[in-house]
Amino acid sequence: MSIIPFNKPTFLGPEASYIQDAIQSSHISGNGPYTKKCHDFFRSYFKIEHCLLTPSGTAALEMCALLADIQFNDEVILPSFTFSSTANAFVLRGARLRFVDSRADHPNMDCSLIEELITEKTKAICAVHYGGTPCDLETLSQICEKYKLCLIEDAAHAINSTFIKKQLGTFGALGAFSFHETKNITCGEGGLLLVNDHKLAGRAEILWEKGTNRTRFNRGEIDKYQWVDFGGSYTLSDLNAAYLWGQLENIETIQRKRNEIWQKYYDGLHELCRRVEVGIPPHRHSCEMASAHLFYLIVGSEEERNLLIAELLKQNIHAVFHYQALHASPYYINKHDGRDLPNAMKFSTRLLRLPLFNSLTGSEVDKIVEIVSRVLMQVHI
Ligand SMILES: *Cc1c(COP(=O)(O)O)cnc(C)c1O
Repeated sequence: MSIIPFNKPTFLGPEASYIQDAIQSSHISGNGPYTKKCHDFFRSYFKIEHCLLTPSGTAALEMCALLADIQFNDEVILPSFTFSSTANAFVLRGARLRFVDSRADHPNMDCSLIEELITEKTKAICAVHYGGTPCDLETLSQICEKYKLCLIEDAAHAINSTFIKKQLGTFGALGAFSFHETKNITCGEGGLLLVNDHKLAGRAEILWEKGTNRTRFNRGEIDKYQWVDFGGSYTLSDLNAAYLWGQLENIETIQRKRNEIWQKYYDGLHELCRRVEVGIPPHRHSCEMASAHLFYLIVGSEEERNLLIAELLKQNIHAVFHYQALHASPYYINKHDGRDLPNAMKFSTRLLRLPLFNSLTGSEVDKIVEIVSRVLMQVHI
């Protein structure tokens, strides 16, 4: 019986010939010809001026923490229900984390709970657009303006998602994307930093190139490059950028396919799920684009989730759950301020992700829908 894995990294074909080409061009380190192609693409795709490829989404978030000038004991507000990378970026700077609970109806953070967490130490808010569904960006922007906070968007799930027809990742001062093999667009490991606040652009470039002004030197603006600030090795190898380019050229095809699969899950499950009160992701607003990054169920209990995982596994289908609520993680539980975050715990114990990747076939989706429906009817009806 064939296995349906949870994920298969997208590979279309041209990626391999671009890597071959990069090898032949003798520029395989960072900031090479393929990085430039990708940067040009993103500039027009996001309609922004400053973007930088990074070795991972994690690295892009670390750059955000540096550019937001997070210092020891500063406070950063972020959701508890997210990947550890969102939090690590700030913890590495010595920040205290103030975790926000999820909404009752969605894993995104409940932005109505943010204002009461703000103190004079608060420096930044990092929002995660879970599954590419926008957080309440109006409230977030208002709060950040009122308290002079840096808004950072962890848009790792959110490529090709819009709010009021504007791409997610372009609302905050900084936006971070991931091209990890589990994400919509991939190059194995990779990421992207959008620098939407022009004031941060010069420093971002320096930070990116190990604290030197080499990027300006490459543009012919200065006659030698020097160490001018702190920095890191935050460029992406051009071998990875070459793979990425093969995907960016086909981003519309990739997204069309993902949206088709997502829609098939939605059509197959939404009636039943509504009847038995199992949660599924919200449908995008008709005028907006959606990343269709993931399709999930929010079932009644952890036992029900275990049963679903087991029943799917019997048919060689791998469904997974994710995000241990970070406030209750082994690393942070004793550092957390003690507030209960019941919705984050709910999603942590009851959310199940179904396979969703580019080469998943329609009949495979049918099979998954059939098994999920059978188990949900057994449990609930
Ligand atoms: C994938 C992911 C990251 C990290 O991206 P990497 O490229 O794997 O470092 C950060 N935040 C969220 C929400 C993610 O899903």
